[in-house]
Amino acid sequence: MDLQAILDDICAEMRKAEDRGVVARYIPQLAQVSPDHFGVSVALPSGQVFSAGDAQVPFSIQSVSKVFTLAMALGRMGDQLWTRVGREPSGEAFNAILQLEREKGRPRNPFINAGAIVTTDAVLAGHAPREFLGELLRFIRTAAQDDDIHINDAVAASEQATGDLNRSLAYFMLSHGNLLNAPDLTLGAYFHQCAVEMTCEQLARAGLFLTGAAGAPRMVSPARQHRINAMMMLCGHYDASGDFAYRVGLPGKSGVGGGIMVIVPGRAAISVWSPGLNAQGNSKLGTEAIEMLAQRTGWSVFR
Ligand code: GLN
Repeated sequence: MDLQAILDDICAEMRKAEDRGVVARYIPQLAQVSPDHFGVSVALPSGQVFSAGDAQVPFSIQSVSKVFTLAMALGRMGDQLWTRVGREPSGEAFNAILQLEREKGRPRNPFINAGAIVTTDAVLAGHAPREFLGELLRFIRTAAQDDDIHINDAVAASEQATGDLNRSLAYFMLSHGNLLNAPDLTLGAYFHQCAVEMTCEQLARAGLFLTGAAGAPRMVSPARQHRINAMMMLCGHYDASGDFAYRVGLPGKSGVGGGIMVIVPGRAAISVWSPGLNAQGNSKLGTEAIEMLAQRTGWSVFR
């Protein structure tokens, strides 16, 4: 299989696309990113990385960060985490609030915003946000085997300035006793976590620990690796998770920066970036590119 040729084909196809989706506007710094970018990388456990397009350009990983925080939270407190957050698909938008009221402040899963805020709150556990962020960066850098991964403070500040909906979610959970730190601290940690910047190459490498493949970094137990993948498959694309599973058949996690990290258990980790989003807030061309890649490689957890 000529992976490089496949990625080049996909990139050429995506460059031609006229409908590129719409760049996230509710975080002003993200609204400035050109929708013309497209990058894709595939990292193999051997250490080889294949890329095409803008795979070296850093982008805001946004909600893809929720996977790393979940791994840290499970490492820290194990199954105790599930007393505070569920593990069912929400069938709702990533920032939905109605369901949280019906379900008394216990978010459906760790990948919607409310669930990620609780997960961050759990890892924060009385520590200063700076310590949490240091630990998060160490985790991501170790996973990616690359120290040149940082937080974009302008993006964090931009979200901090406009993040009233996330603040509402946090205060709502606080009223239900499901937030343990001061909301400002948890939210500050959460906004900065979302503002981590990575290139496609870095993000693909950072996903390898979830492949469970020989040679990949060992950062979670095999049982946990299986479960994080299960969560990504069922909840990684919000109310489009079923559609992504149908079209791609691999666990993935998207972010409103237009990035998607996809895991091919036992084989590879993939990252794609195209800033324009579809109606569900997932990268439009990113989803199409991963669908093409899965078709061309035959990669699927259902084969
Ligand atoms: N930082 C974003 C937010 O909280 C993350 C959302 C996303 O990537 N889907 O709104």
